[in-house]
Amino acid sequence: MTITVNLRLSRYDCLFLVDSVASMGGAPVYMDLQEIDILYSGSQKVLNAPPGTAPISFSERACRKIFNRSTKPVSFFLDLKWLSNYWGCNGEATRVYHHTGPVSAFYSLRESLAILVEEGLEHSWERHRKVADYFHTGLQRMGLKLFVEDKALRLPTVTTIVAPRGYDWKDITAYIMKKHNLEISGGLGPSAGMVLRVGLMGCNSSVSGADMVLAALRDALMHCHKSKV
Ligand SMILES: *Cc1c(COP(=O)(O)O)cnc(C)c1O
Repeated sequence: MTITVNLRLSRYDCLFLVDSVASMGGAPVYMDLQEIDILYSGSQKVLNAPPGTAPISFSERACRKIFNRSTKPVSFFLDLKWLSNYWGCNGEATRVYHHTGPVSAFYSLRESLAILVEEGLEHSWERHRKVADYFHTGLQRMGLKLFVEDKALRLPTVTTIVAPRGYDWKDITAYIMKKHNLEISGGLGPSAGMVLRVGLMGCNSSVSGADMVLAALRDALMHCHKSKV
């Protein structure tokens, strides 16, 4: 396993924020080793919990920045100094109300983390990697191309497939939604119209889950209108 460390971001005097919504629990993330200053995730992806909570962590450097800022936060909602006190993370004995925390969602997040601990974090990473390999091989056997060519750079939880030539990608996703009840999305921003995105994460990262998506894609390629491009 390779981990990118020492990005030398310090020379830019900036903080390094990472969105791990689609990866936390399914792919290796080492906040300290990778010198990540702010790392956040969501309960509803790999962790299999209902949406509503977002684990977030700050490095010492990020904390220093937050606690020593010279301007006021633009909104009460994003006042991290206040939030850190409400969360009980700033070392003060007294906690002041900021909002009502989603208590029942925290119980479900806690249970999802307990399930992850039972499997073992490294085992979960390994399962996601193996299922992704299996899925990617299946896609390539079907004649589909992966958007990320370098195997080492592929995310094990989200697969981007090059939109197959001759088809309108929207026909494929609409067909699969209607016939197989599976939601596959298109690209975002610069990759809009170029790719199909498939998420296999958490409890859906399994050989049977991958087989289900492969069968749906095979069916769609057979039944969707093919132009003579
Ligand atoms: C799903 C996803 C989001 C959006 O999460 P929400 O909880 O819907 O806001 C953001 N970033 C990544 C990488 C995601 O996969």
